[in-house]
Amino acid sequence: QPVVSLENVTKVYGHGDTRVRALKDITLPLYKGQFTSIMGPSGSGKSTMLHIIAGLDTPSKGTVHIDGVDITTLKDKQLTELRRERIGFIFQSFNLVPTLNVLDNILLPTQLSNTKVDREWLNRVVEALGLTPRLKHRPSELSGGQQQRVAVARALVSRPAIIVADEPTGNLDSKTSDEVLSILRQAVDEFGQSVIMVTHNPSVATVSDRVIVVSDGTVKADFMGATPDQIV
Ligand code: ADP
Ligand code: ADP
Repeated sequence: QPVVSLENVTKVYGHGDTRVRALKDITLPLYKGQFTSIMGPSGSGKSTMLHIIAGLDTPSKGTVHIDGVDITTLKDKQLTELRRERIGFIFQSFNLVPTLNVLDNILLPTQLSNTKVDREWLNRVVEALGLTPRLKHRPSELSGGQQQRVAVARALVSRPAIIVADEPTGNLDSKTSDEVLSILRQAVDEFGQSVIMVTHNPSVATVSDRVIVVSDGTVKADFMGATPDQIV
């Protein structure tokens, strides 16, 4: 059973003259323990797809299952709870809590979902992302790149079944970018988490097991174990 499954999903924004079909009849199963990249030109529907996969948005038509649950039948409160328990978010606006220090920001999801913290994993994540000397700092005292890595750590510590990431290496230099991809890869390989990542960068996509290319609201290509020249 797929960890996330889109069935005949269509997403329409606006109406009349401003009507846009952002996704057109997409059927897409995503599997447990897979690192999936979503690529495609600007405006092709990647963010819309990621939002729907993460239960942040609902389709205009079609159904979405997350961990076997049909989210189109859930009430807002139930959907919020499902997201909290099963999904880790790494988005461009990091949404860090300004009044909490780095460590408390990272631990926030485990507190909200009442998950026991695996200290060893926490330490590994924090160390791998170079955040150990920054745990007591507030977000405002960090560089943009450091804030992005805090958001990555926060999504990883509670080991959610699904991690959705929108350009998680967008603001990072190549060394820190590699650190982020490596820890995401470890989450997949060691704990069977599923990572679904939007990226523009073909070399970033090479860490993934599967690459989905979106174009004009449809899936143009879908390959397993893609090599860089296939992606470019
Ligand atoms: P991508 O992430 O690939 O750049 P998006 O999913 O953001 O693409 O957008 C797909 C299409 O849907 C675009 O034509 C965009 O203008 C439109 N769109 C996205 N979000 C909205 C919105 N909230 N309201 C209206 N149109 C939107
Ligand atoms: P980066 O190379 O990641 O963009 P910066 O050049 O922005 O980093 O920052 C370099 C160092 O200065 C970092 O260790 C960061 O923690 C620190 N720093 C950046 N902005 C602030 C700030 N507003 N307050 C305190 N320290 C800061």
